[in-house]
Amino acid sequence: MSALWDAASPEAALARERGIHCIPLPTPFGIGPVNTYLIDDDPLTLVDTGPNSGLALDALESELKLLGKRIEDLELIILSHQHMDHLGLAEIVARRSGAPVAALASLQEPLARYDEWMEADDRFAAAVMIRHGIPEETTLALRSVSRSFRGWGAPTTVSRCLEDGETLTFRDRKLEVFHRPGHSPSDTIFFDRANRTLLAADHLIASVSSNPLIARPLEFPIDVPEESAAVERPKSLMIYLDSLAETMAMEPVDLILPGHGPGFTDHVALIEERRRLHERRANKLMKLIEANPRTGYELAQALWGNVAVTQAYLTLSEALGHVDLLIAEGRVSERRGEDGRSYFEASSSPTS
Ligand SMILES: [Zn+2]
Repeated sequence: MSALWDAASPEAALARERGIHCIPLPTPFGIGPVNTYLIDDDPLTLVDTGPNSGLALDALESELKLLGKRIEDLELIILSHQHMDHLGLAEIVARRSGAPVAALASLQEPLARYDEWMEADDRFAAAVMIRHGIPEETTLALRSVSRSFRGWGAPTTVSRCLEDGETLTFRDRKLEVFHRPGHSPSDTIFFDRANRTLLAADHLIASVSSNPLIARPLEFPIDVPEESAAVERPKSLMIYLDSLAETMAMEPVDLILPGHGPGFTDHVALIEERRRLHERRANKLMKLIEANPRTGYELAQALWGNVAVTQAYLTLSEALGHVDLLIAEGRVSERRGEDGRSYFEASSSPTS
């Protein structure tokens, strides 16, 4: 587990001064608690809801009570992205409060058809894993793990569709809505320009580098054939780096409230650090590929050893993300082997 939100920190105090209270809620995931935020304004707003569990619901209720509020008082629920640790309780909280649920428009159908969509997402992930060399039995094992976790999310009715660039108006503030995909296809951040505050969710976390997970594009019809979907896998890390560049140019920002871990201030320095990390990783992979052509799975194993088995999809996503950077630079090319797997090899240097 990484660092936690610290209610005694200057960042937490600054957030409270600006009418925003962080409510961390427990999750069963390795990342630890998820940060939800109560915006004490009109409408009274909850940004993210935590996972679908009695434990998270109890924690939400008792934290709200400490702030003199009840779930029934909520007037708006905003979702930052599609991951279940952030939205599992949304439907329950919306029913109890009558508050509309606001999220990116492209999430409306996937969240309404949550189970089918998660199944399609898993089929897509399996096709990506097979193509990039992850053994069949590992792929099957991961699918059953994923199925067993599915209940931490839930079908959700998005009643207020958000568009990139729109502004949500409250009594005391405005929140600008920006789509910043990469960590997931639906990452959305909320910017209070007047108060220099950015609700960044998992787009930017100080304590860990956000994983640019390869996810099924939201626009794909839920029943698109898996193999063609895998061929067109999104280049998540490149998408993420583009999103980071946009966030880096944002100003003025002096408080970032993330989806996990402590609040922080200097987003520019953090983004520069992340860029350097990804550059170093890409160069490391380049050396491996130069030594001999490898599949994505072999690259992930070379970098992360056994973690590449237990966290196969996550590490594969990371490795492929960096390979995509090298392909874009013309340093690596992808070849489909006779076994159907993709092999990455160094591009032949121009003849001198
Ligand atoms: Zn998260």
